[in-house]
Amino acid sequence: MKAQPTASHFINGRYVEDKAGAEIPVYYPATGEVIAVVHEATPAIIDQALASAKAAQAQWAAMSGTERGRILRRAADIMRVRNHDLSVLETLDTGKPYQETSVVDATSGADALEYFGGLAGGLTGQHIRLPDGNWAYTIREPLGVCVGIGAWNYPTQIACWKGAPALACGNAMVFKPSETTPLCALKVAEILHEAGLPAGLYNVIQGRGGVGAPLVADARVNKVSLTGSVPTGRKVYAAAADGMKHVTMELGGKSPLIIFDDADLESAVSGAILGNFYSSGQVCSNGTRVFVQRGIKQAFLSRLSERLQNAVIGDPMDPATNFGPMVSEGQLQIVLNYIAKGQDEGAQLVCGGQRLDKPGYWITPAVFADVTDDMAIAREEIFGPVMSVLDFDTEAEALARANDTEFGLAAGVFTNDLQRAHRVAEGFEAGTCYINTYNDAPVEVPFGGSKMSGVGRENSHAAIAHYSQLKSVFVRMGALEAPF
Ligand code: NDP
Repeated sequence: MKAQPTASHFINGRYVEDKAGAEIPVYYPATGEVIAVVHEATPAIIDQALASAKAAQAQWAAMSGTERGRILRRAADIMRVRNHDLSVLETLDTGKPYQETSVVDATSGADALEYFGGLAGGLTGQHIRLPDGNWAYTIREPLGVCVGIGAWNYPTQIACWKGAPALACGNAMVFKPSETTPLCALKVAEILHEAGLPAGLYNVIQGRGGVGAPLVADARVNKVSLTGSVPTGRKVYAAAADGMKHVTMELGGKSPLIIFDDADLESAVSGAILGNFYSSGQVCSNGTRVFVQRGIKQAFLSRLSERLQNAVIGDPMDPATNFGPMVSEGQLQIVLNYIAKGQDEGAQLVCGGQRLDKPGYWITPAVFADVTDDMAIAREEIFGPVMSVLDFDTEAEALARANDTEFGLAAGVFTNDLQRAHRVAEGFEAGTCYINTYNDAPVEVPFGGSKMSGVGRENSHAAIAHYSQLKSVFVRMGALEAPF
């Protein structure tokens, strides 16, 4: 299987290669075979990308929002027409099953392009009346050159979630995908330009953290949007602060999912499965600390174990497969280490957690019961298919324990008590909360974290505030007096 892109980078409207950069092999997670090789961006490539973004941005900002939006919406249409090919590429890049990628990745990317394309023409400032016939107005301006840095779990979606609002607001973007999944963002760039995006406005360059760092530090850059882990977020935020740059930080989590004994058990089990095993557990907002009220613990665990028998683990390209491999050998080893740690710490491995004896990075979905709050598997983000089930007795206790974490990305509650559902949602210290559902992320709704899980919001009208700034203009209609 091969998925070699035309070239490693996409700069100024075309593919660009520079073999002087270190090789980055791209592995198909299902087999471990190398399907492509790209080259890390050299300083010359980084400079070329930033220079073309800088040069193109002013003219793009001068176009009407409606014109900009039309291009984004055209790109959305192209993405939808090519959904199959883009989904196959996403599966090759990440190992996620086609059953998922064909309905989530290019689809969600296209939604973002369409949504922000639709908003672009409606972006305005305000008129503000002041005393004595004076007034002020605000101009909503783009920030300039934005840098996007992506994680490896949703390469198409992340490239679009950052690119679409940035471009709608009149910015230019330089995007660096994760070195683990470098292929999909190149297709996003290609499609945007096919849709009519002027050259230089959406550039993709490859590399590891060593390429991300100089991008963040460059004086031409006005904003940095990162999707990644908390440790990387800390570094990138600090580097951006040095240049007083705007930031969006979409970071990791260890989110709680509280299941009360009055919940619809079947739905609660569905929520726990979706919130732990979708994308083989490689989802930032996953509800990996599942608090189950003591009275339904056994019923929950036995129904969960039964339903996990329905996981179809196999060729990710087979539409029947619903559970794929981990993205890399490195990530698989991290997960295996946590499974060993969970057992050492005394949690009960109810099922799963075994590496499959075949090429690629395969592991079966794991469920731990009798987990306590102090165990590593209950405190640290694993980013793999490992569910920790914790027991609780009262609502107040569950909420306090749910919030006892440095993270604050997401949180969920399953109950049929209407008032309790809203009371618990109100009490959660998290940016994105779910009642009787889990992990929905439509473009119309703000998405992001609180506490260590991040700063800013993606999606929805809220993202506009993070890709534009307001200029206030005061107007005096009469003569102006001064004290002397
Ligand atoms: P990392 O934090 O390791 O990397 C994220 C990106 O930052 C990568 O492109 C990485 O490059 C780059 N990077 C690393 N160091 C630097 C640096 N010093 N300066 C600039 N860029 C740098 O995350 P992963 O890729 O491992 O992704 C998993 C993490 O992402 C999890 O914690 C997960 O929760 C989080 N995530 C958050 C989401 C959200 O929306 N809140 C959504 C999806 C994932 P490279 O990989 O090439 O080294």
